[in-house]
Amino acid sequence: MIKKQSKNLTQKEKSLKELYLLIKEFGPVTKGCLVQKTGLKQTTCSRFIDELLQEDVIIESGYAESSGGRKPLMYDINPELYFMFGVDISHTEVSVLLIDLSLTIKEHTQLKMNENVTPEVAVNFIEKEIRSLSAGHHLSESDVLGIGIGAVGPLDRENGLILNPLGFPAGWQNVQILDMLHKRLNMKCMLDNRANTALLAEYEKHTQSDYSNVLQILKGVSTQTSIITEGRLVRGTDKLGMFGQGHMIVDIDGRKCICGGYGCLHAYSSIPAIEEDFISRLKRGHASVLRERFTDFDQIKFEDICWAVNEKNDPLACEVIKNAAMYTGIGLSNFINILYPDLIILDGPTYKKMDLFYSTVTEIAAERAKLLNPDHHITFSRGALGENAVAVGAGKMILEYFLYN
Ligand SMILES: [Zn+2]
Repeated sequence: MIKKQSKNLTQKEKSLKELYLLIKEFGPVTKGCLVQKTGLKQTTCSRFIDELLQEDVIIESGYAESSGGRKPLMYDINPELYFMFGVDISHTEVSVLLIDLSLTIKEHTQLKMNENVTPEVAVNFIEKEIRSLSAGHHLSESDVLGIGIGAVGPLDRENGLILNPLGFPAGWQNVQILDMLHKRLNMKCMLDNRANTALLAEYEKHTQSDYSNVLQILKGVSTQTSIITEGRLVRGTDKLGMFGQGHMIVDIDGRKCICGGYGCLHAYSSIPAIEEDFISRLKRGHASVLRERFTDFDQIKFEDICWAVNEKNDPLACEVIKNAAMYTGIGLSNFINILYPDLIILDGPTYKKMDLFYSTVTEIAAERAKLLNPDHHITFSRGALGENAVAVGAGKMILEYFLYN
């Protein structure tokens, strides 16, 4: 029933699937509650529940509090009826996760991204890990719904291509990632931007709190933005996933950007921009704790600047970070003034690795947002799922394909 396309379902199977989706959303849930939500007769609802139990699609899940009389049984989905693989292809690693239907991670494995990791090496790794995770958990092909991939853009999502991601090693141009994986593993494969899949996963964690407009920004070597409006992920006509990639102009007379323009946010808040700003100030003679640790300043990396900020409160490093955060906060306030999100998730290494960057950005953005709309409340978060959000959301994308298509 879950694997069948909606158009091929019989009327009865459609009703069973609707009931299943309600149990998924509200479970653990009592029969009484399901009767109320579906409008089904008590006897019909009982019969449907028995059928779902017999097929192992749902399970009995303890007893609810009694309002007098016997405690009513509760039902929930069987999380291990099927599994999904979630893959994250980022600047730092290739991760493969085995996830069950409740999006619980069963096992996790990863390969560090470096100049030796060509698409062929990455796909070999993903194939090997999926085969070994399947064997380790005694899963056959029919137990798995498919493989979801969250990758650094730009992408051609519909045709399953990773186009030419910024800052990736050689060979990562026009990579037919879905074709390559499908040929080797013969499973349903889907691709989306990392920011989109991360937001799918984070939103699942936050729905209880009822946020309907959510903005998520992943910031690191590049910037990726995703939006949920009225509870739905916005994909729009942006097939390449180029939208929100950090080329919002924050200073018309500003620094030259890799896109050829001037004053883009990318030229201030990306990891390469932060490294370049810090190194150029050192070369101009500014004092810093990193001066003694490096003979060749060009070897200084973002992690070293984080160390200087977090461990040494180094004035030069802090100034560079605050400056990058100021431009980022202005860019974010532009987003806020267009979209009026009620939840903003700021994720990725620049936000995760430095409290100074995160606190400066949120203070500036919140302050400027208040100027136009003092009553609009925004919650800022660094995400609830951490580094697994992208791969978990990629798995969820596969699950949603089967549940809602
Ligand atoms: Zn630009």
